[in-house]
Amino acid sequence: MTRLRLATVRPQEPEIFHSLQGEGISMGRPSVFVRLSGCNLACQWCDTPYTWFFTGHSAPHRGAQTYERRDNSVTLDIADVARTISAFDCRHIVFTGGEPLLQQPALAALCALLGPDFHIEIESNGTVALTSSFAPHVDQLNLSPKLRHSGNGDAARLNEAALQAYAADPRAWFKFVIASPADAEEVADLAARFALPADRILLMPEGTSANVLRERSIWLAALCQTQGWRFTDRLHIHLYGDTRGT
Ligand code: SF4
Repeated sequence: MTRLRLATVRPQEPEIFHSLQGEGISMGRPSVFVRLSGCNLACQWCDTPYTWFFTGHSAPHRGAQTYERRDNSVTLDIADVARTISAFDCRHIVFTGGEPLLQQPALAALCALLGPDFHIEIESNGTVALTSSFAPHVDQLNLSPKLRHSGNGDAARLNEAALQAYAADPRAWFKFVIASPADAEEVADLAARFALPADRILLMPEGTSANVLRERSIWLAALCQTQGWRFTDRLHIHLYGDTRGT
């Protein structure tokens, strides 16, 4: 039996839902989201802390509130996950988290069970390399390498070998979370250091309210124009607010 650890929308109910992709190069595309539990980083502004900021975790998070692991994660057999996914009339899947690439053996088994008709998109922090068994199942990688303002140490947030491999992989897009204009200098440094192609770099405003996103989008859009990078909004925040299962 192969099992996946998933986040929940409420105790024991896995966070698997149909919505529109809210961010990145596929923004607006109807997709089935599968949110996995667990993360190897601890971003202080993380908007899904219930996937990793469990009671006893000592990292600083601006929300301060920790979450009970038993209420906010559930472990399911991949056959049950495949049944839930297949019940939606949608063949575009987004595995998100947390950090979904921490569970690649189970994801590979799940994708094999689903078969070839599904388009598989991954949202990852870019610190975990693809394994040879999972890589063939992946159609698109939305990577979000973390900047200094995330609060993670350099060694934790930047895996040089993984980022170099992703830079050479045309399936990979690099989406940076930007809180202030000065963050763009850090992006430029990382782009040069890891040879990230400019046309696969996207900047996204940090924020979990429509007002903050709108304010930051004004200067961020101008900055993207200057640098030749893409801009991405957070559509789901405008449509549904900062809520689980959307
Ligand atoms: S990498 Fe993503 S899921 Fe993990 S703490 Fe950072 S923002 Fe949250």
